[in-house]
Amino acid sequence: MGMAIANKNAGKAGEVLWEKVLDILEKKVAQTTFNPWMLSLKPAQPLDEPADVMVLASDQAFGIQVLQKKYLEDISDAIFEVTGVRHKIELTFEPSDVKKTKKRAVVEKSEQAVLMEKQIEQLKQMHSFCGLNLKYTFDNFVVGENSKFAYTAARAVAEAPGQKYNPLFIYGSVGIGKTHLMQAIGHHVMTNFSNLKIKYTKAEEFMNQLIDCLKMGGDTNARMKKFRDMYRSVDILLIDDIQFIEGKKRTEEEIFNTFDTLFHAGKQIVFASDRPISAFSQTPERLKSRYEWGLSVDITVPDYETRVAIIEKYAERSGFQISREISEFLASVYDKNVRELEGAYNRVSAWASIKGEKLTIEKAKEVLGCTLIRKKITPKDVIEAAAGYFDLTTSEITGAGRSKEISIARQIAIYLSREITELSFPALAKDFKKNHTTILYCWEKVKKELKTNTKLEAQVKEVELAIRS
Ligand code: ADP
Ligand code: MG
Repeated sequence: MGMAIANKNAGKAGEVLWEKVLDILEKKVAQTTFNPWMLSLKPAQPLDEPADVMVLASDQAFGIQVLQKKYLEDISDAIFEVTGVRHKIELTFEPSDVKKTKKRAVVEKSEQAVLMEKQIEQLKQMHSFCGLNLKYTFDNFVVGENSKFAYTAARAVAEAPGQKYNPLFIYGSVGIGKTHLMQAIGHHVMTNFSNLKIKYTKAEEFMNQLIDCLKMGGDTNARMKKFRDMYRSVDILLIDDIQFIEGKKRTEEEIFNTFDTLFHAGKQIVFASDRPISAFSQTPERLKSRYEWGLSVDITVPDYETRVAIIEKYAERSGFQISREISEFLASVYDKNVRELEGAYNRVSAWASIKGEKLTIEKAKEVLGCTLIRKKITPKDVIEAAAGYFDLTTSEITGAGRSKEISIARQIAIYLSREITELSFPALAKDFKKNHTTILYCWEKVKKELKTNTKLEAQVKEVELAIRS
């Protein structure tokens, strides 16, 4: 029975066995930041647990989480090695004053406690030095079809920095998780390879630091050296919003040299950008080719189901109850940008917790304000609005009539449908009962004429107003 060593009543023999377990563990996971947590483990009494479960207690609440996540298997293996029995391991938190058994143990613990505090302090400092936000972890990221590839690549990089995709270039529109994924790499590396140095920076910040170096009087060279050393001595460099420095020659030059130094030393570089590499028209070719060396992955807007999952994840994390109806409502309204979706969730959940009231769908709508609610506009809505404005019927707009008024109404409806719904021309062709070349032709015609025809411009604006009101 496994409890032999886990039971404090097991006496000397149990103690010896437990020391052996710790010995094995120590060798196996030595050199890691989390080693002290391992040592803080104490075998605990099983109470009425089944005999194949071994309960281990520690007074390090945070340490338990780390052990649970990273080292459960190692612990189980070590116990197996010593006892020859495979136990299911359970870790529990037990405040330190509950169990002051032997003097030796107490002394050992307080030394460990001091070490632990140091480690935690170090971790905090590392986070702020690295520029990482603790919220942006892989665990907190909801993977959808839109981000599957980027997520997989980011994970691969985090698990073997400098070895797989170098650089990793993540791109996509605003507010859809680029920074989150990028920081998750940093976070993962920090937890799993505590000896590696990580630096996250926004390209803009990098540029400002460079400018500061150059503009201050005195020893510019010494300052530049310090600046360069800081970026070139890291094992992982995460540079966000790289599009910001496009065409800024001096900064691009500096990034180029930093890249080469790190790359040749086998260090990992990750870039994030709001546009693909091909769109960097003002960046010198040689830097562009560096961006392209590794792997370039895009993230797109998450689909509806993923958006619902994201909201439910937020709710779960903060222990907030949200009905499916409300998360579906939020997901359908905020369909372009996860940051906005998150903002909406934050507003409704904050309302509920401040008021202490249950959140209903009506309340959610009220809290978000009607003006903020963007109903999904369809070509049908546009056709109706255009018909109303020109005093026609909707079937006249989708019909074959060629009178001047009908033609203009139809062209405006087609143009606005394309602009507002972003549907493809073939998709619009169905709604307008035309072939898609006709749709394309109308759209181009209006687009072109709008540049010079103010009457048309006014009509388009008024129809659009009618659609949105
Ligand atoms: P970007 O850098 O692409 O502009 P961010 O990474 O800053 O966007 O994401 C905006 C917000 O949305 C962040 O708070 C982030 O945590 C959240 N977010 C984005 N994508 C996801 C996702 N897939 N799962 C959970 N949260 C996400
Ligand atoms: Mg970002």
